[in-house]
Amino acid sequence: MAAKNRPLLADLEQELRFLSEIGADFVFAPAAKDGPRPERKGTAGEPAKAEISPAVTARKPAGEKQRVLQAVEEKILRCTLCPLSRGRTRAVPGEGSHEAPLMFVGEGPGADEDIQGRPFVGRAGQLLTKIVAAMDFTRKDVYITNVVKCRPPQNRTPARDEIEKCRPYLLTQIETIAPRVIVCLGRVATDFFHPSAAGMSSLRGNFVEYGNILIMPTFHPSYLIRNEGNKEIKKLVWQDMQKVMAALSRK
Ligand code: URA
Repeated sequence: MAAKNRPLLADLEQELRFLSEIGADFVFAPAAKDGPRPERKGTAGEPAKAEISPAVTARKPAGEKQRVLQAVEEKILRCTLCPLSRGRTRAVPGEGSHEAPLMFVGEGPGADEDIQGRPFVGRAGQLLTKIVAAMDFTRKDVYITNVVKCRPPQNRTPARDEIEKCRPYLLTQIETIAPRVIVCLGRVATDFFHPSAAGMSSLRGNFVEYGNILIMPTFHPSYLIRNEGNKEIKKLVWQDMQKVMAALSRK
């Protein structure tokens, strides 16, 4: 076997072992690999396609969802696959409805989330909760999670390897819940599905297709907080959420 294929096979083996341990009956499409970020644009008026795609998006019965999501949660809570596990108080699997039509994916837990074991409960979380309410949902109607499930030290951006180790958790959550739309909060979540050389300012507001799920990249609530005086950014996020609501209201 060529040496260059070994890491790939090790990743595949890790994902397959994980799936068989939790009793899932689907496989993941391959991860985006190193290299320059492609500029992926849809053709005029068409959404771009995500770099990765879900293998199976068939709706699962509620009991099956509950079983798989609980198994994933238990794995996350005990996970030691990357160094982030050593610095955590609690892992933060995610929370919300298993039938959610809408999912929010952030970057990784912050200090408050690390203490409470719940996603988006700090300052950025309070803002996200307001955005969710403005969309006429409650936090219980949607599903909220992060790309990495343990807090990076000093809230630094999660490293590529940490994201890769956490990948099966997020993918399983998505494929089990099968939301119709995923809102990617900020760069890390957007890159997870749609690595691109373009800045968030041009990515936001444009749907990307991830199988039959629509991905909406938008600014992270922390960015809104850092730019509190800038009403324009808030308006842009609200425009993005209106597009999400319009997509959800279509059949
Ligand atoms: N920021 C995130 O990206 N996720 C959280 O859960 C909290 C803050």
